[in-house]
Amino acid sequence: MSTRIAFIGLGHMGGPMAANLAKAGYAVTGFDVVPAANESARHNGVEIAATAGAAAAGAAVVITMLQTGRQVLDVFSGTGGDGLLAAAAPGTLFLECSTIAVDDAKQAHAAAEAAGHRCLDAPVSGGVVGAVAGTLTFMVGGAAADFDEAEPILQVMGKRIVHCGGAGAGQAAKVCNNMILGVSMIAVCEAFVLGEKLGLEHQTLFDVASAASGQCWALTTNCPVPGPVPASPANRDYQPGFAGALMAKDLGLALEALAATGVSAELGSRAAEIYRRFADEGGADRDFSAIINQIRDRSGS
Ligand code: NAD
Repeated sequence: MSTRIAFIGLGHMGGPMAANLAKAGYAVTGFDVVPAANESARHNGVEIAATAGAAAAGAAVVITMLQTGRQVLDVFSGTGGDGLLAAAAPGTLFLECSTIAVDDAKQAHAAAEAAGHRCLDAPVSGGVVGAVAGTLTFMVGGAAADFDEAEPILQVMGKRIVHCGGAGAGQAAKVCNNMILGVSMIAVCEAFVLGEKLGLEHQTLFDVASAASGQCWALTTNCPVPGPVPASPANRDYQPGFAGALMAKDLGLALEALAATGVSAELGSRAAEIYRRFADEGGADRDFSAIINQIRDRSGS
């Protein structure tokens, strides 16, 4: 396969994603500011460049998997003349996979287009497990022709690839989905704590709610109490899974989107506060379902 792919950001997600592309036969040139991330990627078949710009030079596709919108915009425009947009050949396809604000994603699209390139926002869900297994879900925003070109590459890293609309639509879908997830996990945890106080067995509440109108992913896949769903993080002392810090971050992005659009989302806003507090009070590295312990503490349980 001749397509050369630059991969910038070889962390928990980017490392295994780049490794899967290399395993599938793509020529992958990567770069991360952390030497250990570069070393680990090199072991997985990724050639390492000296700078982000050097990785992008000569690539047909540039993938970014960074932490924040600020990092993405900085790496695109570059400091010291080594920006990705300036280094890439005209017409390069940028796949921006980080989870960032919708407005930042639109800025990234605009900057890429102004530099003569093409851009898709393509955030993911599925976590590190999905990144390693190549089973991520990609939510993609941008032009249909660019989506068609990117799809075979995304298929290597994911199993569900959804074109959500124009620039920023992938991030929009991600932020809406995760706002549902944050609110629904809190609701499921509150119901279990109420059930405990009312004398209900966990399994009994699970059997009823999972087959009734309370059914949702937070209950049936990521069940916050041990027992009913053996694979859920509650059964391994809340090792993530999906870490509290990431839920707090994603709900922070939801708050930005709510402010920008003027939408009144009382539960989404409250969920953002609750998860910020959870992350600050020791939950950052625990699975986000461990919020049930805070609810118990506040309930005198
Ligand atoms: P991470 O911190 O492990 O990886 C990000 C990498 O980017 C780091 O290795 C960092 O050194 C590198 N980096 C930062 N600035 C750089 C620069 N200027 N040039 C090159 N590299 C640079 O984070 P992650 O867990 O891999 O997450 C990446 C993105 O995916 C985030 O936006 C996150 O919200 C999102 N996400 C994460 C998960 C998850 O479960 N970890 C799930 C879905 C989405």
